[in-house]
Formats: sequence, structure tokens, C-alpha cells
Amino acid sequence: SAFEKHILITGGAGFIGSHVVRLFVTKYPQYKIINLDALTYAGNLENLKDIEQSANYFFEKANILELAAIKDIFAKHSITDVIHLAAESHVDRSILSPMDFIYTNIVGTVNLLQTAKDVWKGEYEKHRFYHVSTDEVYGTLGEEGLFTETTPYSPNSPYSASKASSDHFVRAYGETYGLHYVLTNCSNNYGPNHFPEKLIPLFINNIINKKPLPVYGKGENTRDWLYVIDHARAIDTVFHNGKNHETYNIGGFNEWKNIDLIKLLCTQMDEKLGRIPGESEQLISYVTDRPGHDLRYAIDATKINKELGWSPSVTFEQGLSATIDWFLNNKAWLENVTSGDYQHYYENQYNKG
Ligand code: NAD
Repeated sequence: SAFEKHILITGGAGFIGSHVVRLFVTKYPQYKIINLDALTYAGNLENLKDIEQSANYFFEKANILELAAIKDIFAKHSITDVIHLAAESHVDRSILSPMDFIYTNIVGTVNLLQTAKDVWKGEYEKHRFYHVSTDEVYGTLGEEGLFTETTPYSPNSPYSASKASSDHFVRAYGETYGLHYVLTNCSNNYGPNHFPEKLIPLFINNIINKKPLPVYGKGENTRDWLYVIDHARAIDTVFHNGKNHETYNIGGFNEWKNIDLIKLLCTQMDEKLGRIPGESEQLISYVTDRPGHDLRYAIDATKINKELGWSPSVTFEQGLSATIDWFLNNKAWLENVTSGDYQHYYENQYNKG
């Protein structure tokens, strides 16, 4: 083949995956990029319509639970590397239906590992399995301290337990069979294409529509926020320069109490929408806390910074402002997603006639 690498990116129609696919397709025309996605409620190919005609981009609709389908795709595209993002990703959904998380996040990941192990056997040093994970595997912090790469795993939700399990399987395939892998644990992402069940896009949408802003508990929970495009840049860095069998934490040293974040969001949106200062804050409404709600996540991103030279490209104020602008300029996207119409994009685009 004329391509240097044939990279399988799973979950490429999702929020983070779409930014990773776009970055790799545009920055590396010498790589063939194969986006594998089952197009669950969270997958939206509209996220990629600007690059779907690129000569190095291919889409495969498949479920990582189907081992035979994965094997076929590995063979068809002579896959040389995997960047694995496909997952069930929403904590609230994991509380309602944990089994979906166990299947996709654990069994699905092992299906990919097993296929990579069999297909690449004898030449593991030529291939790389990159597993994308979350800081939520570390559990919760008190008021002090930061998660480092050596913090013991202590997941509290079915979502984080399933991600923790998948991380352990990746490590085990490295230790037991010699598969070459890298693993990253990233803090909360925000940015364009974020599915509006998550806090920031949900609140942007509600502020636009003057609907209540439901805040869990007292809004004291603290999260460390990273602009999704900076996460994609970090994945590019670790994919190319990360050391085999290593974990890197990804974050921007950017902690926000939920309530402070919401107030900043309200201030920026009042300004952009030409509303009276303080108007949107009045939409805040406190609701019963999520069960097992982790108090605080915060990432120590020293390793990726010192060893690989990565750091975020935007401040939170800049990233949040760009995110709000994106949602205000892409109201059709937001309406398609909230109405469910986006799910017809694949049928219209790929199954013509
Ligand atoms: P997302 O829910 O937006 O996207 C997930 C994608 O995976 C969707 O396109 C979906 O269709 C696909 N998918 C789900 N189940 C599948 C299956 N069985 N087979 C094939 N495809 C399937 O999620 P996201 O927020 O973009 O997260 C991507 C990855 O990054 C996940 O592994 C998540 O754990 C991790 N992560 C997310 C965050 C965050 O803040 N969103 C932070 C750190 C790590």
C-alpha cells in the first residue's frame, strides 16, 4: 500500500474520536485512517462531514462486540495500529444500565486486543495499541492532591469501573503477550460536537432556550477541564512519541468547581447573547446529587509535559468562549442531536439508493 500506516480509530464518530480522526486525516495524508464506529446514540457522522471525502479516510460501521467483524476489518485494511476510543461514556447512563458498559468497554476492548495480538503476532514492535481512558479510574480526591500515573485505581461508578477494567486488560496483554501499547488517562473534555447530555453543552443549550440549569448537590464537585482539541493533540503526541508500556495522564491544571464554571458560562453567554448581566444565572436550580458522585478530580500532567513536551494550547476562558461560539453557530447540529434527526445522517449519506 502507498500508506505508511493503516490506523484503526474506534469511536471516531463520537465527541473526542471525531476530533482525533480529523487531526490525523488532515495532518497525516501519508496514513490511512479507518474510523470504526457502531453509531450508537452518541455516534454522529455529521461531526466528520468536512473530511469524509478525503482520500485517506475510510468509515466502517461495526460493533466492537462482534469479533468476526473486527477480524474482517483488520484483514481488509491491513491494520497496523489502533487508537481505541469507542466506549459507553456517560456516567448517569452507567448507573441506569451498567451491563452496556461492561459489554462495550470491557468485552469490546478485549475483542480488539485479542485481534491485534493474533494478527500482529511475531512483530509486535512494528505495531502500537493506543488505549484512551479517563482519570475517573482513580476515584475521587479530597480538597488536596492530584492524580498521578501511580495513583492506585479506585473507580466508584459503573462507568469508571468498566474503564478501569479495560485499562487492566490492555496492560495484561502487554505483560502477558508482549503487545506494544500506550495508555492515557485524561480529565473531562469540552468543546465542539460535545453531546448535549453532558454538563457544558447541556447548559449552553438550556441557556439559549432559557431553561433551568440543574446543578447536582451544592455545585461543589470539582472537575479538571480540557479543550477537546488539546486532548486530540495530546493523543497525537503520545501515539508518536510515547514510550511502549507507559501510561500518561492528560490534563491542563484547570480545576473548576461546578458552580463557578456555571457562573463563568452564564457570564460569557449573557455577553454573547446580549442579555442583561446576571440574567442567565437566575436559571440555576439545585437538584439532588448523583449517587456516588466523586467530589474532585484533578490531574497532575507533569509527565506528559516534561517527557513529551505537550501542554494545552488554549486557556479555559478561550476554550469555553470558542465552544459557546461553535454551539451558537451550529444551531442546526444542536437541533438535529436534540431531536434525534442526526441518526439519519448515516442512512442518507452512506446507503443512497
Ligand atoms: P462518546 O460517547 O461521544 O463517543 C463514543 C463513540 O463510540 C460513539 O461514536 C459510539 O457510537 C461509539 N461506540 C459506542 N459503543 C460502541 C461499540 N460497541 N462498538 C463500536 N463503537 C461504539 O465518547 P467520548 O466522550 O468521545 O469518549 C471517547 C473515549 O474517551 C471513551 O473511551 C472515554 O472513556 C474516553 N474519555 C472521555 C472523556 C470525556 O470527557 N468525554 C475524558 C477522558 C476519556
